[in-house]
Amino acid sequence: MKILFLDQSGKPGGAELCLIDIAKPYKDSCLVGLFADGSFRNLLEQNHIRVQVLTTQAIQVRKESSLAQGLGSLGQLIPLISKVVQKAKEFDLIYANTQKALVVGALASFFSRRPLVYHLHDILSPEHFSQTNRRIAVTCANRFASLVIANSQASQAAFVAAGGRSDLTEVVYNGFDLKNYQSHEFDVNKIRQELGLEGQFVVGHFSRLAPWKGQHVLIEALAQSPVDVTAILVGDALFGEQEYVQHLHQQVKTLGLENRVKFLGFRSDIPLLMSACDLVAHTSTAAEPFGRVIVEAMLCKRPVVAAKAGGAMELVENGINGFLVTPEKPDELAQVITTCFKEQQKTATMAHHAQMTASQRFDVTAINQQIAVLLNKLLLKTSS
Ligand code: UDP
Repeated sequence: MKILFLDQSGKPGGAELCLIDIAKPYKDSCLVGLFADGSFRNLLEQNHIRVQVLTTQAIQVRKESSLAQGLGSLGQLIPLISKVVQKAKEFDLIYANTQKALVVGALASFFSRRPLVYHLHDILSPEHFSQTNRRIAVTCANRFASLVIANSQASQAAFVAAGGRSDLTEVVYNGFDLKNYQSHEFDVNKIRQELGLEGQFVVGHFSRLAPWKGQHVLIEALAQSPVDVTAILVGDALFGEQEYVQHLHQQVKTLGLENRVKFLGFRSDIPLLMSACDLVAHTSTAAEPFGRVIVEAMLCKRPVVAAKAGGAMELVENGINGFLVTPEKPDELAQVITTCFKEQQKTATMAHHAQMTASQRFDVTAINQQIAVLLNKLLLKTSS
């Protein structure tokens, strides 16, 4: 099957990392078209997936943009759309992985007469997107897509609530290559030593630095946790959230936590770093569409605490395979941290159980098989 994948980002967020796993089985016949250059392109190349940057001109629409701003950017999109139309003729289908890719993919699908798949990695709610953005996404999907793959039931429900056609949707969770999440004890001890974490109870936070990812909630909770607890914040501001980064550094200073919080920036050795943690915290303040880091922590056999909203609730059963806390409640989070600190044997048993169930639910081979079945069915339907 020849697939033209489209993604607007040059940077590797969760949707882009998921795309790498989806594109891998098609690497001999697919192309990933990007609307920006950056380290995501390098990652695709390292995985031997053919990639082309289709434009380097930034598309001036943001998550909170108005209709006028959205329409204003249409003219800017025309050269890109015609390029995608030409490319699409060499492929069986167009697979849009982000919202701007959906808009471009929708028009390209119409002009090239190739079916369009939209992989929905977002929660189309007012918390995350302006009304205009929600309307554009839903209209493009309803009118032009033959299939919408939602990354969780939460994303699916929000799509339908925003006016999306439920008959188009299928829920497929992200898949993970299980062997990537096994670390050797020697390497784990080494990295703990390198990072000066020996003898500490380490809580890890793995996410780009952005207000809604709630790193500030963890810092606040840390101030209410035993003094032997240290936090590592892994991730960078991918989309210009510099003010928030400054705010986090200031918060650490104000709370006198300089010796207990380490900012590690963006890292590519997530499984090893997670394995070096005693607990992984997910603290999003708005509903998380899926929450890759939650599954990754489980696969690394580390206890996980997540904010109770959106996709996280489909991944974590409180007290069974992890902990759920109310979003934006640092005191609740501090209580869970303290429990995990005091009852390490009990939480290790929970983490062991989580690893077993997550390995069954999120194995990339099975997930890719689900996607292959859906795409084959779609091609059969659209060609008949
Ligand atoms: N991640 C990474 N390096 C970092 C921080 C995060 O590779 O420094 C990865 C993380 O392991 C996860 C992804 O980025 O696979 C984030 O996905 P998630 O669904 O948690 O959030 P999103 O970025 O999609 O909002």
